Amino acid sequence: MNEQEIMDLYKQYIVPSYGKDDLFFVRGKGSRLYDVAGKEYLDFFPGWAVSGLGHCPTEVVRAVQQQVKTLIHLSNNFYHPWQGRLAKRLSEASIGGKVFFCNSGAEANEAAIKLCRLYGRTQGRYRILSMENAFHGRTLATLTLTGQKKYSDPFQPLPEGFSSVRFNDYDALVKAIDKETVAIVLELIQGEGGVNVADQRYVEQVAALCRERDLLFVVDEVQTGFGRTGSLFAFQNFGIMPDIITLAKSMAGGLPVGAMIARSEIADLMVPGTHASTFGGSPLVCAGCLAVLDTIEKKNLLSRAVTMGAYLHKKLELLKTKFSCIKEIRGMGLMRGVEFDRPCRDLLLSCRTRGLLVNCTHDTVLRIMPALTVTRSEIIQAMDILELSLEEFCAIGP
Ligand code: PLP
Repeated sequence: MNEQEIMDLYKQYIVPSYGKDDLFFVRGKGSRLYDVAGKEYLDFFPGWAVSGLGHCPTEVVRAVQQQVKTLIHLSNNFYHPWQGRLAKRLSEASIGGKVFFCNSGAEANEAAIKLCRLYGRTQGRYRILSMENAFHGRTLATLTLTGQKKYSDPFQPLPEGFSSVRFNDYDALVKAIDKETVAIVLELIQGEGGVNVADQRYVEQVAALCRERDLLFVVDEVQTGFGRTGSLFAFQNFGIMPDIITLAKSMAGGLPVGAMIARSEIADLMVPGTHASTFGGSPLVCAGCLAVLDTIEKKNLLSRAVTMGAYLHKKLELLKTKFSCIKEIRGMGLMRGVEFDRPCRDLLLSCRTRGLLVNCTHDTVLRIMPALTVTRSEIIQAMDILELSLEEFCAIGP
């Protein structure tokens, strides 16, 4: 199929809910993507943060190939060995407790919302506080939790029981709590919101506040999980222990999966009939996720995310000294944001022409999240392309 034929099918048969770039990919390996014409791209935002181990990681491919021959799917009314094994690994590697499997980040957050409501039900508590500029998903409830009018306004009226307050503003948070509040939901690094890192003191205060007021502390690790920040989960960088975490994206090397992990006494409120997901925790995705966890361990990818992340950060800081249009470099591990004094869409396009894929979020922030397997020479290559593109981009003026 040529590019026109591919595009025509989309035009005629796909719901047009996505902004699209005219790029047509057919193959990927590691940090490289290849288009229809065979042109190679360096992918520094692989799969919107899903392909955390790069495209088609060998270990996941092998595990999935093996599993697909054995058992692909099983109803959640039966037992199979892979789900329990994976849940044990995830639980022990995070907050302890029990896991609910689903298929996406939005569903993981939806599960967390429902669990919070079960928790507060007997006391009439149901309100959940989240942060401005957060991103938690596109279902009606998670969209409301997201608290960004640009996403939610067309879908009014929205579900009741959600409000958002300023990120990193402890006083605003305290003020927003009332007798109906049951939980606080936080991304420790806002991804879509512009790679905004929560302040250490703020996070500690929120954790303490939740304990004092019997509020559930929910940390959305959909984007930050699975080694992205240099720890398996971002909360581990802050020395706190949430009640609930939500996961998805890079969890199974590209397979669609999500999960909510909750402290056991809270998780046990989800008795039969309260929640379900037909596809959740299938043998296939569990095998993929177990392979991801094994690979992170065997290849020492957490410490690699720290070293490569620091190297990437150093390179970006160097560019900041050269180009005054860069205002700030933010992030942790291999999750980095470059804030500009102007919208960065044109910069993204110019990097793309030179064979580098990055993301532009919140209009002015370049989001860079390469695979945990990225090499030093790939970072050098990407930064060379970025520098060339910045020369044009910054010369024009805001
Ligand atoms: N939570 C965070 C922090 C996210 O970044 C996203 C997606 O970008 C979601 C939730 C929603 O995940 P999904 O698109 O898999 O529903």
